[in-house]
Amino acid sequence: LGGVLPASVRADFPILATRPGAYLDNAATTHKPRAVLDAITGYYTTANSNTGRGYHELGRLSTDVFEQARHDVQRALGAERPEEVVFTSGTTDAVNAVADGLGRRLLGPGSAVLVSGMEHNSNLLPWRRLAEETGAELLVAPVDGHGRVDVEKFTALLGPRVRLVAVSHVSNVLGTVNPVAELIAAAHRHGALVLVDGAQAVPHRTVDVRALDADFYCFSAHKVYGPMGTGVLYGRYDLLDGLRPARVGGGTVKGVSATEPVRYVPLPARLEAGTPNVAGAVGLAAALRYLDDLGRDAVRAHDEHLVRYAVRRLAELPGVRVVGSPEETPSGIVSLVVDGVHPYDVGAHLDGRDIAVRCGVHCASTFLDSLGLLGTVRLSFAVYNTEADVDAAVDALATARPGSWTADHPTTRFL
Ligand code: PMP
Repeated sequence: LGGVLPASVRADFPILATRPGAYLDNAATTHKPRAVLDAITGYYTTANSNTGRGYHELGRLSTDVFEQARHDVQRALGAERPEEVVFTSGTTDAVNAVADGLGRRLLGPGSAVLVSGMEHNSNLLPWRRLAEETGAELLVAPVDGHGRVDVEKFTALLGPRVRLVAVSHVSNVLGTVNPVAELIAAAHRHGALVLVDGAQAVPHRTVDVRALDADFYCFSAHKVYGPMGTGVLYGRYDLLDGLRPARVGGGTVKGVSATEPVRYVPLPARLEAGTPNVAGAVGLAAALRYLDDLGRDAVRAHDEHLVRYAVRRLAELPGVRVVGSPEETPSGIVSLVVDGVHPYDVGAHLDGRDIAVRCGVHCASTFLDSLGLLGTVRLSFAVYNTEADVDAAVDALATARPGSWTADHPTTRFL
């Protein structure tokens, strides 16, 4: 297959048989293996019912499979208790739940939130808004020449004012891995809580929230071979227990009277108002099992191999420049620019050859601005990608030159 995993992996993903070419947009979302599709269909065909309202057998069954999925995620993250796993609709929802939930109790005039200069809008805008609303300051830790958060400069920004740090584990733009354990240790020494955006980490590496000592850790199921519309907020029990629920409603209270104060149920239900996405949680658990069956080490080695192979092959192309140093800490993503060709035009050129990539600013325009780039072309890999996929992208990039496409593409500009 030209990788670490066997060719048979491709047969696990039904969509691959329906499309020609190479899907290299896995950082946006991965395809789903049959095991996940079957788990979702299986849930709706054998257990569908609302949860936590166990007046009948199906209701109890649905609650059981939902809670089993929570246990599976707990195990995958190395969390101490299942109640520390809250199901959300995705990473964006999880970050917002923490920002809303901490709110004015953590921040106010004279305090600060520290984010990194590479954050996705989903781990930037909730903090920016919160800072604006509370009068706190938003500090930004710079990214070094390798495309990682600079530990020294980050540490220099910490201090009694900084109450919370929000940082990504792996950059969705460059695929570089931040030294999150070091960043967390430094933040804790200065008394700050740390939220880690793990959206691009969980697909490629085993994450142990306790070894990292993360206070909050978020990821999305759909980027890790699970379904869209499901995500996870991990949080230390005492911290989650102190969060003000961002959403209130059914399933979160012991009972409401017109006169008494509202009494909320314990975690995790108090943070999961409304009917949960049980099929999503079941699909995520199936995806995590699928990765365990492939072997987490093999998955990581496969994704790392493809990054290194891509960087090597891209070096053969004059006028193509890899941004950052993804080969130093490979994690499934390579971002590049083609001299003189707008990233959107490169994307259109590749699309015309059945190669799917993401191009542009990747929801991180402040980071792209700081790099002095209009955007990049991002190749991102999954377990079903092969060296042949990389070769196809490299061949297509070799002919991506100004004027190399016939359509008068409106975005054509020069870098
Ligand atoms: N953070 C990072 C690093 C991401 O890559 C993404 C998805 N592009 C998100 C957050 C947001 O994830 P979602 O859209 O699934 O909420």
